[in-house]
Amino acid sequence: MDTLKHVKFASLVVMIIALMCTPVYAAPSGQGSQAFDNKVVKRIKVDNIYQHVYHLSEVIGSRGAGTEGEEQTVDYLIEQFESFGYEDVNVYPFTFQTWDGEEITSYNVEAVKEPMKKHNTGQAIIVGSHHDSVPWGQGANDDASGTAALLELARVFANTPTDTTIKFVAFGAEEYGLWGSRKYAEAMTPEEIERTVAQFQMDMVGSEDAGELVMFTADGEKNLVTDLGAAAGSRVSELVPYSELGRSDHVPFHNLGIPAALFIHTPLEPWYHTEDDTIEHISKEKLKDVANIVGAAIYQVARKDTPALEKATVAPVPVDYYYEEPHL
Ligand SMILES: [Zn+2]
Repeated sequence: MDTLKHVKFASLVVMIIALMCTPVYAAPSGQGSQAFDNKVVKRIKVDNIYQHVYHLSEVIGSRGAGTEGEEQTVDYLIEQFESFGYEDVNVYPFTFQTWDGEEITSYNVEAVKEPMKKHNTGQAIIVGSHHDSVPWGQGANDDASGTAALLELARVFANTPTDTTIKFVAFGAEEYGLWGSRKYAEAMTPEEIERTVAQFQMDMVGSEDAGELVMFTADGEKNLVTDLGAAAGSRVSELVPYSELGRSDHVPFHNLGIPAALFIHTPLEPWYHTEDDTIEHISKEKLKDVANIVGAAIYQVARKDTPALEKATVAPVPVDYYYEEPHL
C-alpha cells in the first residue's frame, strides 16, 4: 500500500514536471510568433505606403540626384519623419562627380528610433531605401516603393518599444553608383560598425509586373538578415529565397562586414529604368507584403527580449530556405 501510494505520488510529480516543461520545450512557435509579428504587422497601413509612392512619383515626379525634385523629396522626408515624432532628423549632404565629371550635391536623410532607456542592447539596425530616381523617370517602383515602405515602418516603429536602435535611412544618388550609401558607410566609426548587426535594403518592392520577392546578398551567402527575412516570410507571408547580387545600397555595408541584404522582386518589370515606371504599375499587395516581412524581421531583433519570452512559444523557429539562381 505504501509503496503504491509512493508510486502514485512519484508519477504525479513526474506529470506536474512534464506539464511545466511542455510549453517550454515542445510547443510550436507559430501562434506566439504571430502575436509578436502582429504588434507590427497589424499596424502597417498599405494606404499610407501607397500615398507616399503617389506623392514621391506623381506630385514630385522625377527625383534625380541634385535636381529640384530631390530637394522636394528631402523636404517631404523630413516633414514625414517629424510628423511621426522623430525630433532630430539628420540630413547629410555629400558631393560626388557624375560620369560626365559634373559635381553634384545629394543627401542622405535619416530618422533614428532610440531604444528604451532601461532595455538597451547597444546594438543597431539600419533600414534603407534610396529616394532618388533615374533622372529621366518618375521611379515609382525604383525606388519610391522602398522609400514609401521605409516611411511607414518608421511611423510604426516610432511608438514601438525596442531594445535596439533602428536607423531609417533614405539614401541619395544611388542611381549614379551607390553614392549615398557609400558616403554613409564611409562615415561610420569603428564603434558604429561594431554595434550594427543588420542592414535591410528595400529597392523596387511594389511592381505588379515583376516576379517574386528575393533577398540578395553581395556574396551569395546567407546571413542574419536573410535568416530573419526567410523566417519572417514563412510566418507572415511565404518563404523568401536568397540569391547573389550587388547593385544596390546593401553593398557598402556588406563591405564593412555588416550582415546586409537587398529585398527586391525578380525578374524585374519591363518598366525598369524607363519613363513608364509609374504608379499605374504599382501593386498594393506587393507593397504590403514586403513591409510586413521586413517589419516582422526587424521586430524579431529589435523587440525587448526576456529569457521568459525566448523560452516560451514566441521564439521563432529558424527555417530552411533555399538559394535561387539570380534572374533579372
Ligand atoms: Zn533602385
